[in-house]
Amino acid sequence: MTLTEKVLARAAGKKYVQPGDNIWVNADVLLTHDVCGPGTIGVFKREFGKTAKVWDKNKIVIIPDHYIFTADSLSNRNVDILRDFVREQGLPYFYDVIDDPNGHWIFDKSKGQLAKQYGSHFAGVCHTAIAAKGHTRPGEILFGTDSHTCMAGAFNQFATGIGNTDAGFIMGTGKLLIKVPETMRFYLEGALPKGVMGKDIILHIIGEIGFDGATYRAMQYEGPGAYNLPMDDRMTVTNMAIEAGGKNGIFPYDEKCAAYVNERTKLNGTKSDYQPVELDQDQKFIYDKVIDLSKLEPTVAQHPDPGNRALAKTLDKVKLDRAYIGSCTGGKTSDFLAFAQIVKGHTVKIDTFGVPATPEVVFDLKNTQWDGKSVWDHLVGAGVTMTENASCAACLGGPVDTFGRMNKPMSCISATNRNFPGRMGHKESRVYLASPYTVAASALTGHITDPREYLS
Ligand code: SF4
Repeated sequence: MTLTEKVLARAAGKKYVQPGDNIWVNADVLLTHDVCGPGTIGVFKREFGKTAKVWDKNKIVIIPDHYIFTADSLSNRNVDILRDFVREQGLPYFYDVIDDPNGHWIFDKSKGQLAKQYGSHFAGVCHTAIAAKGHTRPGEILFGTDSHTCMAGAFNQFATGIGNTDAGFIMGTGKLLIKVPETMRFYLEGALPKGVMGKDIILHIIGEIGFDGATYRAMQYEGPGAYNLPMDDRMTVTNMAIEAGGKNGIFPYDEKCAAYVNERTKLNGTKSDYQPVELDQDQKFIYDKVIDLSKLEPTVAQHPDPGNRALAKTLDKVKLDRAYIGSCTGGKTSDFLAFAQIVKGHTVKIDTFGVPATPEVVFDLKNTQWDGKSVWDHLVGAGVTMTENASCAACLGGPVDTFGRMNKPMSCISATNRNFPGRMGHKESRVYLASPYTVAASALTGHITDPREYLS
């Protein structure tokens, strides 16, 4: 069996499953956020009763992150709905925006978008935060009410996005009926050359198979190149499985994965035992492709979809109005460090926005010193508008006052993961997806730029 089949078989209590089987699986973790949480709670209460209790309070993780730092009162209210439910159910894993369990969340417009407006429990963007807070474990099943839940496949687990109805059902029962997907294998060889990141790998792959090329399939990564990748790059790769229509993305288990998971479960005191799935000799794939990482170059997904691939070096005629670094995919500490490596000592030529994925990233950037100055200060010094309010921000547009949102037609190069029309705001905007390196180099020139020019 493939890695995905092995996780699913175990969760279904079966020795063997094959693609196309419809099986009931037990969920290990259910994740939801401020956009889908209220709807999920509504389904749960409607179907199981107003006084029903969730199936397992230790297996529900709620992370408000989407429409947080906005004066939109309905968005603020969504966070209050989550808090009320958490209090009523006694849920331990709620990463609230405020510290008062009986309070109300109201964004203070007068303080502006840049200065921190959250309490000590806030965790930032759910997919980055759920791993950082020790809720991702090898061999487990994670369902989340968000399409990029697949990011957790980097940790050798089956992780996939579901709708509110399925999530409401899981909330009450802990189970879900799913069809076992076919598996596509991407066998990675070699190591990434200078100026090329995990983002370039996945943009290359989606360009190869198309934005629907993995529809309802598992995307499994193997080979020496896969083991070479740091966890952050693996997370970027699995995050974007859904941009090819994939059901999930998954990596094998190794020491790097173990080190990350063990450190995070210990830090946050979450469940620390787990059982990884190992690679079988006998695996059947619907697609099998070898990719030599050393041959990859900085890659861009052009407007209007993540499969519209071109090399950065061929797009120097594309003029830009804005650059954006942030999101679950591109807002990790390593993403900002790569970005900063290029802009440090220079000045950006176009409006450039930086949104860390989690408060921990803010901390890292403020406490990492380069030449006697924090990385945060280097970014600000280069003209990047940085916010401490870690969240999804303009990755999916959001209310009109969202930080970095494109409120008029413009062209933007972005370290985020999705560029369908209207994704980051105005529906006539054009979004180009790229690695943090490429976004940084392009911010300096005002047109799409191969970052290798800036990396000596
Ligand atoms: S950062 Fe973007 S892709 Fe990630 S969860 Fe938020 S909206 Fe979704």
